[in-house]
Amino acid sequence: MSAFRLSHAFGGAVRDARLKKGFSQERLAERAGLHPTYVGMIERGARNATLDVAARLADALDIPLPKLISISLKRRLREKLGLGPTEQAQLDRRRRELRSWYRIEKKRVGAETLYVFLGERPKPAESTGISLRKRAAILGAAHGRCQMCGRTVEAHGITLVVDHKIPRDWGGTNEDENLWPICEECNAGKKAHFSSLDRSLMRRVMGHKSVHVRIGELLKASRGKAVTSDLIALVAGQDDWKKRTRELRYLGWRIDVGRKKLASGRVRSAYTLRRFTDWPPDPSGWIRRYELDRAKRNQP
Ligand SMILES: [Zn+2]
Repeated sequence: MSAFRLSHAFGGAVRDARLKKGFSQERLAERAGLHPTYVGMIERGARNATLDVAARLADALDIPLPKLISISLKRRLREKLGLGPTEQAQLDRRRRELRSWYRIEKKRVGAETLYVFLGERPKPAESTGISLRKRAAILGAAHGRCQMCGRTVEAHGITLVVDHKIPRDWGGTNEDENLWPICEECNAGKKAHFSSLDRSLMRRVMGHKSVHVRIGELLKASRGKAVTSDLIALVAGQDDWKKRTRELRYLGWRIDVGRKKLASGRVRSAYTLRRFTDWPPDPSGWIRRYELDRAKRNQP
């Protein structure tokens, strides 16, 4: 018999509720009109209670049946995940992860939240299709350090999450190179900026091979708003993003550089677009030629 069966979790829930009430098995059996041996078997998960028996036990324990079942489902999930009863926060996180593999509907029944299992997804949901193993590996390799602001779990009490560098709806993948561990504050700041931008525009922009176009269109989409350096670096996807951003000025663009304090308390340089021009054909080529010409002009 599997320890993860619902009957096993139900038995545990019945036993907990009975002990809370201070009832003996005999007392509970008497109240429910069942045989004590039968109640013992249900508590051990050795027997599968019928719905009628479950209702009688719930009545005898003064618990609404939906609540007793809800407790059992949560308990089974905890058992499955090897979590202690106090690890509800972890359980909630795990349950969110389960949604990428299973269709689970959340329902309010009176004061209770129930989770209805609707079945397995044909393939993992795209939004969070990162396996637990991969997630754990990425978090483990971070050694507690946020890759965006550099703060650590130990010194700053941050919580790390696995984030897509380029968001999924901009065409970012679940590949390792697009995933990194960052703290919740950095993640929230990044989300706040990125989610304010036009998704379909950014999806097109991110597919552009010219790094100048990627940076430039990010600044255009954020027009009048300061874009912090870490976000530009992500969109550029290269270490030379600072030089690439400066080069946009060759095209007649005006970009103000200032500083911006992040939610994490860190300060970043921030770029605000004030003026831009139409892209020439092959913008990166145009900029390269402009630089070469300028170098020639400056030669004695
Ligand atoms: Zn951070």
